[in-house]
Amino acid sequence: MIDFISIEGWKTKKSILVVLAHPDDPEFFCGGTLARWTKAGHDVHYCLITNGNKGSDDPNITPVELATLREIEQKKAAEIIGVHHIEQLGYDDGMLIADLQARKDVVRVIRKIKPNILVSCDPTNFFPNEGYINHSDHRTAGQIALDAVFPASGNRMFFPELITEENLHPHSVEEVWLSLTSQPDINIDITDTFEIKIKALLEHKSQIGDPDTFERRMRNTRHTKDTTIDNPRYEEGFKRFVFQK
Ligand SMILES: [Zn+2]
Repeated sequence: MIDFISIEGWKTKKSILVVLAHPDDPEFFCGGTLARWTKAGHDVHYCLITNGNKGSDDPNITPVELATLREIEQKKAAEIIGVHHIEQLGYDDGMLIADLQARKDVVRVIRKIKPNILVSCDPTNFFPNEGYINHSDHRTAGQIALDAVFPASGNRMFFPELITEENLHPHSVEEVWLSLTSQPDINIDITDTFEIKIKALLEHKSQIGDPDTFERRMRNTRHTKDTTIDNPRYEEGFKRFVFQK
């Protein structure tokens, strides 16, 4: 059990909503931190904007079959992280646009779950690692999430039909944490939950290729400072926004 009084500075139980583009993004981007939070007793929910129906080069699987498979994989991975509630928005993989419909759909989930903390990813990060271009859905999901947080979800003038037709009233989050950022201002030590992260990621069988090679690659992501293969330390970095009340 991790004490609530820790690097996060949270003294009460938090409701946390993770808004990302694809099945597997939560575990890849911040699975160690999410597992740390569920172990500490916080409630974590996922909202996945696309169904991941283009995430394969296998000619023997159709997009519909792939989406179904990835939904099952995501459920299993989420259970390992300690997440039991997933909102699937069902947008087409690879085609995500930060339009008003997507913003409204995320505002609906925010007003329904009423999270204290919203987790997404950095929409400005085009080049997360050397030799790697960030998927446009990741950047777009980050933008949709931020646009939904401010000012739409907390302002009754935005999407008033959510109030009149669905009884979903304005809600403002306390904090936003952006994963997959090149400008982290908080680094969470996930060494204690790294094995949970690996175990969860291994459930995304359609995405990881050879599991042994994948696991070796993941273990090589250990922090380079003051750490060895036998005594590794792992971290996940975030850009954190704490809003004034
Ligand atoms: Zn992704």
